[in-house]
Amino acid sequence: MTGGGDRRLLDLWDRTGAAPMAARPAVLLDGLRQLAGLPADPPADRMSIGQRDRALMLLRAQLFGPQVALQADCPDCGQVFDLSLDLPRLVEEDDGAPPPALLRIGPDRISLRPPATRDLLAVLALPAPSRAQALLARCASTPLPRPLDAAEIEAGAQALALADPHADIQLATRCPACAAAQVLGFDIAASLWDDLSRLARRLLREVHRLASAYGWTEAQVLSIPAARRREYILMAGGQ
Ligand SMILES: [Zn+2]
Repeated sequence: MTGGGDRRLLDLWDRTGAAPMAARPAVLLDGLRQLAGLPADPPADRMSIGQRDRALMLLRAQLFGPQVALQADCPDCGQVFDLSLDLPRLVEEDDGAPPPALLRIGPDRISLRPPATRDLLAVLALPAPSRAQALLARCASTPLPRPLDAAEIEAGAQALALADPHADIQLATRCPACAAAQVLGFDIAASLWDDLSRLARRLLREVHRLASAYGWTEAQVLSIPAARRREYILMAGGQ
């Protein structure tokens, strides 16, 4: 990335860190699309969670490489083992057209659209017990005829999960020591946030070393191309 890219990467790190937890994946997607020179359309907070996370996986593969290294703990024998996840393959595996989400309320069948980040943010502002009902009401094609009972809310949540398969990535794993099976969740936004934080901290260390050694400002350090910056750090006795 160029010097200007590094500046924008640090700005994105600040913006994402300051956003509420539920908004971070959408802030990351809009910011990374901008860094990659891609159009931010549709806005990330209007994409379904699955579409948003699918786009994040493809961008992660493009910007930082297709493989994600994960670690798992075996619940049976305690063995810690490494996993490598191939993001493009994960995206392809579930690329079939998902079924439409339908909610049956008495004789009525109401179609649901999968929720987007802005729906989650809206219902998170409500008291916890009313969120699931409010989310289904926001995503229903027509107003709900009456408050839903617990079974209808559960059925609605299941229909939404089936209709938006990338919204909840589950990985089937097997322990190499004792062969115990385990299902692990994978959160692409949290993984990308780690990637971005690692890059940002590396840049801040470079700024710190060169600012300390030469008295340059942050803006001056970041305007120096990365390869030249590394040479200055070596000359200043760093590594
Ligand atoms: Zn095990």
